[in-house]
Amino acid sequence: MGGMVIVGAGECGVRAAFTLREEGYEGTVTLVGEEPHLPYERPPLSKNAPPAVKLIAEETRYRDLSIDLLRGTRGQRIDRENRRLVLADGRTLDYDRLLIATGARARRFAGMEKARTLRSVGDADAILSAIGAGTKLVIIGGGFIGLELAATARGLGAEVTVLEAADRLMARAVPAEIAAMFEDRHRQEGVRLRLGAKVEALEEHAVVLADGSRIEADIVVAGIGAEPITGLAADAGLAVDNGIVVDGCLRTADSSIFAAGDCCSFPYRGAPVRLESWRCAQDQGAHAARAMLGCGDSFVRVPWFWSDQYDLGLQVAGLALADRPFLRREVGDGAFVLFQLDGQGRVLSASGVGTGNAVARDISIAEKLIERGIVVAPEVLCDPGTRLKQLLKG
Ligand SMILES: Cc1cc2nc3c(=O)[nH]c(=O)nc-3n(C[C@H](O)[C@H](O)[C@H](O)COP(=O)(O)OP(=O)(O)OC[C@H]3O[C@@H](n4cnc5c(N)ncnc54)[C@H](O)[C@@H]3O)c2cc1C
Repeated sequence: MGGMVIVGAGECGVRAAFTLREEGYEGTVTLVGEEPHLPYERPPLSKNAPPAVKLIAEETRYRDLSIDLLRGTRGQRIDRENRRLVLADGRTLDYDRLLIATGARARRFAGMEKARTLRSVGDADAILSAIGAGTKLVIIGGGFIGLELAATARGLGAEVTVLEAADRLMARAVPAEIAAMFEDRHRQEGVRLRLGAKVEALEEHAVVLADGSRIEADIVVAGIGAEPITGLAADAGLAVDNGIVVDGCLRTADSSIFAAGDCCSFPYRGAPVRLESWRCAQDQGAHAARAMLGCGDSFVRVPWFWSDQYDLGLQVAGLALADRPFLRREVGDGAFVLFQLDGQGRVLSASGVGTGNAVARDISIAEKLIERGIVVAPEVLCDPGTRLKQLLKG
């Protein structure tokens, strides 16, 4: 008996399973997850102490929807010829359609094996239970997860040092002006930030930098990004290039196999992109489910993600490009949004920061401006007197 098999029970896989039912699919739906826990949200793991475990859904929901949730079960191999997923325990699951939603794992690098990483609820428990007042915490990497953890650890009274190899924070996804604001705030909160810091070695109780300095550490966490989990696809002969390669419908070259969420590389406005974003994982899960049922629409949702550090809320819509200037729009109370336009004056990206949800409304409208490719004059966009919503009329 075939049916729908989803491998990976994270944000994406769970959303796909629910969507199959919401769309009226009545066949078998099996969700295979290697973690022992009920599927949970990852974003709270770096933002709360003690770690907040937020389930994506209660156990009864899976039962009510007749979704067969196999926990603590690893998908080992895809037998494409027989449309079968082979599990690590030797069982097999036949499928009509298979969705790979295996997510990403924390990146590690040679010599840093002793550093902890933060991806799962187990990781968060282990890190946060080791942190208290006066604990010397060294975080390698000034990206989102490292900085969120730094803020959380300061709340626990830890002595926090962040080591970043680049000359600024969050270089991959945030404009320099916004990164500078976070840098100031972390310093004010007592985080020791070392930019341009090259880690040479990890000792039992210290991190050694290339310039010879030693930073004492009770605990070291590496927050140096994540890499997609692509082994199942690669072993099955499917293309992998910074993620499992899919088309606009999130389908691989095998028409019965789809991939979505953190593990996939998909076309966004003509270029391959891999995102590590909670909402994208959800949206792609839902989209993949509809594609598995035969819908041929392309995934076009504008990328969106957020980060919370102290009481600062960051939101980004679209993909900011390094080579386009930013236009600043004041939102009030120190909050602002940086917009980018393309050569034709269409809104490309918007990155905003402020206290709490101060920029949420503007970023939500910006998303629609980006989605609809609306042309806006820079002076109009920057004028706080302009109601952004008005611009949606084009
Ligand atoms: C600490 C932390 C904080 C974050 N904060 C934010 C935030 O503030 N904003 C934001 O937008 N995003 C945030 N993210 C990113 C967001 O959580 C991810 O983009 C999202 O979880 C991706 O969902 P996914 O389902 O694609 O992958 P995952 O959540 O990684 O789920 C994949 C699941 O598949 C399982 N799996 C892997 N291989 C197999 C296999 N062979 N067999 C069975 N199961 C398998 C994995 O164990 C995992 O449970 C954060 C991530 C982390 C780790």
